[in-house]
Order: sequence, then C-alpha cells, then structure tokens
Amino acid sequence: MNEAKKVAIVTGGATGIGLAISLQLAQDGYIVVVNYHSSAQAAQDLVKQIQANGGQALAVQANLSKVTEAEKLIQTTLETYQRLDVVVNNAGITDDTLMLRMSETQFDRVIETNLKGVWAMCKYALKPLMQAGQGRIINIASVAGMMGNIGQANYAAAKAGVIGLSKTLAREMASRNLTVNVVAPGFIQTNMTANLSPQIKEAAIAMIPLKRFGLPEDIAQMVSFLASNKAQYITGQTFVVDGGMTMY
Ligand code: NAP
Repeated sequence: MNEAKKVAIVTGGATGIGLAISLQLAQDGYIVVVNYHSSAQAAQDLVKQIQANGGQALAVQANLSKVTEAEKLIQTTLETYQRLDVVVNNAGITDDTLMLRMSETQFDRVIETNLKGVWAMCKYALKPLMQAGQGRIINIASVAGMMGNIGQANYAAAKAGVIGLSKTLAREMASRNLTVNVVAPGFIQTNMTANLSPQIKEAAIAMIPLKRFGLPEDIAQMVSFLASNKAQYITGQTFVVDGGMTMY
C-alpha cells in the first residue's frame, strides 16, 4: 500500500481464528488493533511477532459483552491512529447444553457476547468506517447459525442474528461504499473445538467431504479477500468455509 496505512480491528484477535486473521491482515499491510478480553500475554506476544515482521499492531483489552467497552475500543483506535478501515468481529464464546437444561443466564451470556457485542462494535465503528471511504465490516458467524446444532440454541440464535444484522447493515451502508459480509466457519481447529470428545470429532469428520477440520488460516484467507479491493462489489453475503460440510 502506498498511501497511509489502513487500520483494522480484530476482536478476539489474540487466539485461534482471530490470531490467524490478525497475522494475515498485518501481512496484507494493515495496522492491526488486536482486541483481547482475557488473553493479555497472547496479545502482547502477537503484537511483538507482528512488529518483528515489520508490521504495526496494538493490543487493546475490552470485554465486548459490555457496550461501553466496545465504544472505548473504537475510541482508543481512533485516538491512536486517526482512522479505521476494517472491523473483523471475531470474538465469540460457547456455553453448550440441551435446551431443556439451558438457563436464562447461559442464553443471555452467549447472546450478549456473540450478538450484542457485534451490534455494539458495528454501531460505534460506522462513522469512522464511512469516513474511510471504502470501509469493511466482516463478521464471523458459524454454520450453526444456518443449520442449527444440538446443544447450541443460544449460540445458533446469536450467529443467525449476526447474519441478519449484517444483511441489514449491508443495505443501510451500501450508499456509503461500506460493505458488510459474514464468514461462517464449520469445524476449525482451535480452543473452541479442542475439548470435543473423540466420538464427536469422528462423527463431525464423517460429515465433512474434505475429511478434516479446517485451520484458522482457512478462515483468515477469506477475511483477507473480503477486506481487499478484490471484494469491492460484494456485500450482504455469507461465505461458508467448512470443507463442504453444508451444501445448499
Ligand atoms: P477461541 O480461540 O476460543 O477464540 C475466541 C476469542 O473470543 C478469544 O480470543 C477471546 O478472547 C474472544 N472473546 C471471548 N469473549 C470475549 C469478550 N467478552 N470480549 C472480547 N473478546 C472475547 O475460538 P475460535 O474458534 O478462534 O473462535 C473465533 C470465532 O469463530 C468465534 O466467533 C466462534 O464462534 C467462531 N467459530 C469458530 C468455529 C470453530 O470451529 N472453532 C466454528 C464456527 C465459528 P480472550 O482469549 O482474550 O478472552
């Protein structure tokens, strides 16, 4: 990039899929604001790694289940770099159990982080992204939000909500050249899937035509494309990256 460097925020950017996205966007030439909640050491290590590779990055703590902290994350980014070009809403949690046993707290906790957190980040990012002239929002949902998943009524509802929110924002923001897209991963090798029992992993792989879990980098490549100029005519879409597990 010849002009001033573009700035990207990656929420939950210090671990798993977010880590791969942060590294990829840094490699693509962005200044990366790595948001973390509890993984302070991982975030600092990642910033050092990006800097060692000649890039620029900043770790910023924020609990995105709180709207005020999302607002603060955007403010810190603007105070530090005076611009915002890309927001990748990747932060997410699971709290799985069958609907019959799911408490209101379990439902609310997942909705607050995975859906309301995305809403809050989008709300406070819109103005600077409009000013950027070709802003990008990329939201990480899940195939669970499209097909449902046993034990994930809270998670699937939140991820389906993210898809609806993204389509609406894509329509509202198109006239400002701000695109909004969704990446819906299938099973990806991260902490989130590390504790699945061997039986569940085996059953999952049996459903995946490419016969393996995806890597965080498989998602990062799609995000990199959607953030780039190559994707300038794409908005309001959901891109499934799942080794062929779901085909409609
Ligand atoms: P992960 O390693 O557990 O990452 C989750 C990230 O979310 C962590 O970096 C965590 O930050 C952050 N986070 C959680 N609560 C937060 C909060 N309140 N405020 C700010 N950040 C918060 O799992 P992952 O697999 O990479 O997940 C990344 C995204 O992909 C999630 O949205 C997930 O739903 C989605 N996804 C994953 C899979 C999969 O198979 N792995 C499949 C479909 C979709 P800290 O570590 O700093 O707390």
